[in-house]
Amino acid sequence: MNHAEIRDLLNKEKTRLEESLSRQDVSLKGDFEKGQRFSQEEMSIINHKATREKIKDIVAALSRLDDGTYSICTSCGKPIEPDRLNAYPEVGTCITCASKRPKNIWGK
Ligand SMILES: [Zn+2]
Repeated sequence: MNHAEIRDLLNKEKTRLEESLSRQDVSLKGDFEKGQRFSQEEMSIINHKATREKIKDIVAALSRLDDGTYSICTSCGKPIEPDRLNAYPEVGTCITCASKRPKNIWGK
C-alpha cells in the first residue's frame, strides 16, 4: 500500500468507528432507560472506550503520515514491520516495543 491508500483506509476506518460510537451512545441510553442488566451496560462502556482508543490511534497515524514518520516506531525509532502495518495500519510501535508493554484491549 502507498501512503495515499493508507490515508484513505485510515480515514474510512475512522468514519466507520465514529458512526459506531454514535450508535453505541444511542444503545447505551436505551439500556439505561429499560433498566437492562448491568453486564450489558458495562460491555457497552468497554466497547465505547476501546473504539475511542482506536480512533485516537488512527488520528495519530494520520498525523504521522503528514509529518513523514509513518511506519517508524514511536518508541525505538526503528521501522515497523510491514506485515504488522498491513494488519494494523494505525499502529505506532514495532512488535518488539509492543511486546514489552501490556497489551491493550485490541491485543496490540
Ligand atoms: Zn520499537
